[in-house]
Amino acid sequence: MTLSHGFSHLAMPGPTVIPDRVLQAMHRPSPDIYSGELVDQSDALYNDLKRVANTNGDAIIYIGNGHAGWEGALINTLQPGDRILALYTGRFGRGWAQMAEALGVEIESLDFGSNSPVDPDRVEAALRADTQHRLRAVITVQTDTSTSIRNDIPAIREAIDNAKHPALFMVDCIASLGCEPYHMDAWGVDVTVAACQKGLMTPPGLAFNFLNAKAKARQAELTHVSQYWDWAQRLKEEHFYQKFSGTPPTHHLFALREALNMIHEDGIEQVWRRHSVFAETVWAAVDAWSEDGPLRLHIPNPEHRSTAVTTIVAGDGNGPRIRQWCIDKLGVTLGYGLPIGELASDRPDNLFRIGHMGHVTPTGLLGSLGCVDAALTALDIAHGDNALNCATNKIASSITD
Ligand SMILES: *Cc1c(COP(=O)(O)O)cnc(C)c1O
Repeated sequence: MTLSHGFSHLAMPGPTVIPDRVLQAMHRPSPDIYSGELVDQSDALYNDLKRVANTNGDAIIYIGNGHAGWEGALINTLQPGDRILALYTGRFGRGWAQMAEALGVEIESLDFGSNSPVDPDRVEAALRADTQHRLRAVITVQTDTSTSIRNDIPAIREAIDNAKHPALFMVDCIASLGCEPYHMDAWGVDVTVAACQKGLMTPPGLAFNFLNAKAKARQAELTHVSQYWDWAQRLKEEHFYQKFSGTPPTHHLFALREALNMIHEDGIEQVWRRHSVFAETVWAAVDAWSEDGPLRLHIPNPEHRSTAVTTIVAGDGNGPRIRQWCIDKLGVTLGYGLPIGELASDRPDNLFRIGHMGHVTPTGLLGSLGCVDAALTALDIAHGDNALNCATNKIASSITD
């Protein structure tokens, strides 16, 4: 017996729910790629994209996923033999550094474990110890989607400044752009990496690099940059050969255009507030489940939690059981656990994740929580029984006018 029918619902941390408006924006014939609407809308598209990151720097759009954005940022700032400081708070920080290593970059890493954020004091100490200024960049992740840790980006900037270190500061905002407050320029970030399929509600396929003057100056010092990834090429005017190094991703650009319309119609501050209320709603439910049985929030301190995704400890083997039951019986797809640490409770089998990023609606969110609640009962997993009440109380108390 299953009750799954009609629309299936994605509650995982990327790809995310695509709004109807975005889907419809793609439902059109192929456009001319040399002139006309696609080219005419280009400047405004880049500007509106930069507004989401709060930067007056430059934006680059690659055809690719988040990994492509990582590679673009690395190739334009580093060369083999360079050394960087990589800050780990989960799987994604580590993954980006591994990619740098494969490009011949030496990695010095600081690991902050799976449930606490980057400690700026350790970053400052590591940078002070680098008296020769061999470290060319500090790389980190704003929201590490595996652990659901959110790092304090301005605090890391302050650590770099306190150490008077010239390293570039590069931040992965793939999971957090359009979800968590982010002020690239005000926070002194030199390179931001993002992608379109999480907070930006667009089908996977576009990766973004945002860069400031310091990052561009660093790029100009490199002796070789692969032509396809080259920021300098892509910042030129000509649309076809330069901006996209070949055919532009036509329908993705129309989709992104519509997604940015939606974000700016609401206002980015309102989009951030909504993510924060929805995150607190999920936390209220999980805290209530944790009153009895094995479930609990993976990140104990609310200030260290992402408002885009929540990692939940569910007890041995329960993560995949809950997830599969929700897919099979109710048509809701939760995020699965990723390997995030050495502890037994950090094993993927113990975890599942709820993505609450992008086009999350109140019905979608409360529906997902209700489905998990039903799964716990059906699978006979002990849990506190007041979770849905706590979730709706949180929603009710958040709406004060
Ligand atoms: C999703 C994600 C990535 C990887 O993005 P892909 O599109 O899967 O390549 C990298 N970093 C973070 C923080 C992510 O959430």
